[in-house]
Amino acid sequence: MRAVVTGGAGFLGSHLCDRLIAEGWDVVALDNIVTGAESNIAHLQRHSGFRITRADVSNYIDVAGPVAYVLHFASPASPVDYLKMPIPTLKVGALGTHNALGLALAKKAKFFLASTSECYGDPQVSPQPETYWGHVNPIGPRGVYDEAKRYAEAMTMAYHRYHGVDTRIVRIFNTYGPRMRLNDGRALPNFVHQALTGKPLTVYGDGKQTRSFCYVSDLIEGIYRLMLSDEHLPVNIGNPQEITILQFAERIRTHFENAPKIIFEPLPQDDPKQRCPDISKAKRILGWEPKVGLEEGLRTTLDYFKEYFASKQSAGV
Ligand code: NAD
Ligand code: UDP
Repeated sequence: MRAVVTGGAGFLGSHLCDRLIAEGWDVVALDNIVTGAESNIAHLQRHSGFRITRADVSNYIDVAGPVAYVLHFASPASPVDYLKMPIPTLKVGALGTHNALGLALAKKAKFFLASTSECYGDPQVSPQPETYWGHVNPIGPRGVYDEAKRYAEAMTMAYHRYHGVDTRIVRIFNTYGPRMRLNDGRALPNFVHQALTGKPLTVYGDGKQTRSFCYVSDLIEGIYRLMLSDEHLPVNIGNPQEITILQFAERIRTHFENAPKIIFEPLPQDDPKQRCPDISKAKRILGWEPKVGLEEGLRTTLDYFKEYFASKQSAGV
């Protein structure tokens, strides 16, 4: 049982490597560390079954020896990251997915694609079921991520239908937890970093846009169940507890003694107005639903970030 995880040093990839190692898999992580960090997988280095190789998976992927599963998680995922790296984002969604599928085909391995709720764009249907085809602006700034992931899904289905590769596709909704990068620009790390550095929390637009935040352990459980299932069509994994971004900022500020102010800044172009997963399919076919509520998940995550920030400060970093 040997799995290749692309993007294995990222936020989700590293939690996935943890789970695979705990389940008895050997894991080869491939990562070029553009948005990930070696520290995310430092604790795994002592496991004889774990190896990390620096590689850009948008180039040809070479892994020696047998491989039973290829899990493709490499891609910038924060809007700030993918707006800074539009072409690498398009490449890793398109060429990276093609290469990862090619590896799976060559090794007769199963393939798992980390797709996204961004495939639904700025949805006109809510909550979003897997059958909704989405409402995406292909030429807007977010198109580099959304269209790359939609292409990745199309390529995955083509390898399944044409080459008979045994594939899975998860559409991940906003997920949070330890190991997010404090400066990655996503709402939670941004608010936390602002609160820790005594700055006001920046809510974009009027803050009435909604998101639904899933704690990372719930997401990984859903992913692992999907890996072991035989479902080829996309499955939403996320927490349907929907909240406005203003309410989210307010929840976060109450966790800090200095209770920072909230200020409003312009809404980025094409920012989805609502996002909430319909998880009836995951419930039905995987027997999965999230267990960690927002308050509990926030407490764990904020404790982690407070400790992380204090250790960096005392080290003078
Ligand atoms: P992340 O930025 O923490 O991790 C991505 C990892 O991929 C990083 O370690 C990065 O260095 C690596 N990477 C990027 N381009 C690469 C390349 N060309 N070659 C090799 N490695 C490369 O992001 P994340 O939140 O962990 O997201 C992981 C995956 O899950 C992504 O595919 C993302 O689209 C998907 N996803 C995440 C969320 C979420 O809420 N976190 C939501 C939807 C989808
Ligand atoms: N957002 C915000 N302030 C910030 C960062 C993000 O108001 O400092 C908003 C952003 O405009 C979006 C939501 O929070 O409406 C979630 O943004 P994030 O970047 O976390 O992910 P997205 O769901 O947009 O991919």
